[in-house]
Amino acid sequence: MRAALLVELNKPLVIREVPEPKPGYGEAVVKVKAVGICHSDLEIIEGKIPLPKPLPHILGHEVAGIVEVVGDGVAHLKPGDRVALSWLWWTCGRCRYCLVGRENICENQVNTGYSVDGGYAEFVRAPASHLLKLPDNVPFPEATSATDAVATPYRALTFASRVVPGDMVAVFGIGGLGHNAVQIAKALGAKVVAVDVLDSKLEFAKECGADYLVNASKEDPVKYIKDLGGADVALPTVESLKAMRQAYESLRPGGTLVLIGLPVGELSLPVIDWILKDIKVVGNIGFTRNDIMQSLKLVSNGKVRPRVELFKFEEVNEAIEKLKNGEIKGRAVLTF
Ligand SMILES: [Zn+2]
Ligand SMILES: [Zn+2]
Repeated sequence: MRAALLVELNKPLVIREVPEPKPGYGEAVVKVKAVGICHSDLEIIEGKIPLPKPLPHILGHEVAGIVEVVGDGVAHLKPGDRVALSWLWWTCGRCRYCLVGRENICENQVNTGYSVDGGYAEFVRAPASHLLKLPDNVPFPEATSATDAVATPYRALTFASRVVPGDMVAVFGIGGLGHNAVQIAKALGAKVVAVDVLDSKLEFAKECGADYLVNASKEDPVKYIKDLGGADVALPTVESLKAMRQAYESLRPGGTLVLIGLPVGELSLPVIDWILKDIKVVGNIGFTRNDIMQSLKLVSNGKVRPRVELFKFEEVNEAIEKLKNGEIKGRAVLTF
């Protein structure tokens, strides 16, 4: 099969023939139809996220495709089934985190396109337990978004901050995750204020249903949101400590700041203000398979339309370059 290999850090990927994977017991091999390009893939290429396995490596953890073949011991999937595979290649189901429904922090997890080869290839192998069946009406490219770019903000706005109808949700950064966050918050019945530094991104937020738009390069988003009464939930989706601080300050008493971006550094917050306003500051990493199932439902019933920009598999390096330059609206997806 053909695969786009990371052979050397900071170099373009190399498309090359490699042996096709074979399913072991309880596993399936999926013919990849679409795979999303995540920011974390860039960070792996740049060496900012060190790989736990030797190169060459196949990236890609936002995968959608068709079951090609199943191994022994697989009863619930058959060749031809449409499925998605996420970052959660495998979780143990027995650690304390798995047992309480928090497999996103499973201490034994194996990750697609990171600790095992991923989906920048014609085929990918995975445990059948972690392949999620797609609703019939969800196309493969949009399905790849549901595995991460929808599922992460979904968990941030449900499990982490429990948005309820009528809440004011402030989304900082209208990119691959942010534009889905706007739509999820609307689906949960919230009012949404979108903050970005580019008018084009704010226009995008408006298309996604945002009620209020603030250009943070032209006006103070904290003042703007406070004038609206303050945010119940603030979700900075960008890797910016400044945006995180602004998000904190935009909260009303009792509000929740959910952190999902990964800037290097330390976030400084005014402790007395934090306590007196009874504010929650919550970290949120990734998602569970259930969050992905819920995300697929939102996409299936049209509540969330993830924006994707399609590239042919052969254009992988071009797509990566565009993502690096911030030229992708929504998510870059490779198709086969
Ligand atoms: Zn991702
Ligand atoms: Zn576990």
